[in-house]
Amino acid sequence: MKAIAVFPESREIKYIEHPEPQITQPQQVKLKILDVGICGTDRHICAFNFGERPPDSNYLIPGHEALAEVIEIGSAVEELQVGDLVVPEVRRPCLDSTCRACQAGQQDYCYTGTYSERGIQELHGYMTEMVVEESTRHLHYVPPQLREIAVLTEPLTIAEKAYAQIVQIQQRLPWFPQAITDQQPGRGLKALVLGAGPIGLLGAMLFISKGFETIIYSRSPIPNEKATLAQEIGATYVSSMETRPETLARQYGPIDVVYEAVDAAPIAIEILPHLNRNAIYLFTSPATPEEPFGIDASEALRTLTMRNQVIVGTVNAGPATFTAAIEDLALFQQRWPHTLSALITERVPLTQAPTLLTQKRPGIKYVVNPARS
Ligand SMILES: [Zn+2]
Ligand SMILES: [Zn+2]
Repeated sequence: MKAIAVFPESREIKYIEHPEPQITQPQQVKLKILDVGICGTDRHICAFNFGERPPDSNYLIPGHEALAEVIEIGSAVEELQVGDLVVPEVRRPCLDSTCRACQAGQQDYCYTGTYSERGIQELHGYMTEMVVEESTRHLHYVPPQLREIAVLTEPLTIAEKAYAQIVQIQQRLPWFPQAITDQQPGRGLKALVLGAGPIGLLGAMLFISKGFETIIYSRSPIPNEKATLAQEIGATYVSSMETRPETLARQYGPIDVVYEAVDAAPIAIEILPHLNRNAIYLFTSPATPEEPFGIDASEALRTLTMRNQVIVGTVNAGPATFTAAIEDLALFQQRWPHTLSALITERVPLTQAPTLLTQKRPGIKYVVNPARS
């Protein structure tokens, strides 16, 4: 069968022939890959910035944002049937029995760092025709009516995990638990989403659905496609090229929650002094700035302390956030059907993946269809 492969030694991305996996154990599940999303992480892997091939292979098959169909099940599998649609988790637990996070099924918080990740870290990913999963443990059932958009599940889990942490962290405010039992926990609060890529736009949908007044702060001047989509969902789009952070804070008032999805641009730090009292700032993208940039650390620490603020880094997502993302995609599909499908710019065959993985093209989310030639 066909696959895309990243060869780190020779620094090549190739369309290759890869052996078709077979079910050999009763708990295993064989999947046909329907859709695989391409994201910034894949582009970093294909620029050889990070990523690790499996120890027994001289290449890594990339791709971690997948939607698949169950095509065969082992004799002991009861939770899924042939024909079911599933979204797989990305990260798999480490093998250290003292890792409390992995032991608790929360490998997104793994202590040892020896976890593996499909398509990223020592496990092949989904840019291929078929895969075999060891069990149903890391697979999430998707209702058939989400077929066209379920490839967006994994990018939405990033926002779901961030939101779950906001809810947890704000328990420190004695009046907040009351607010979260409300239908609109974000009511009266302002969320700032940094970046208008898929992670940013899906995050904005989540914050709006939770009742936050939501501003998307991104580079491109208005008008542009992303600003139009932001408007469709009821977010305010502000261009960072037209409005500086200090002006943004003056115009829209202090920010209660910042959801960073902008790949560590200096703007992510420049917004810090403009947050409200008791604000939370969640960083989601690993810092890869072109060149180092700095801030006045003593001023930043003073503001953090004087305003009871919390800064959190968040990576990957656990099982509960996948369940939440699938439920919320169904809600978004009812509320914003056009916006949701407009996030997928184009579906392309596997042969076009190497080009898309190595060159940034205009648009929002490109999706690879391994079954299409
Ligand atoms: Zn991704
Ligand atoms: Zn672990």
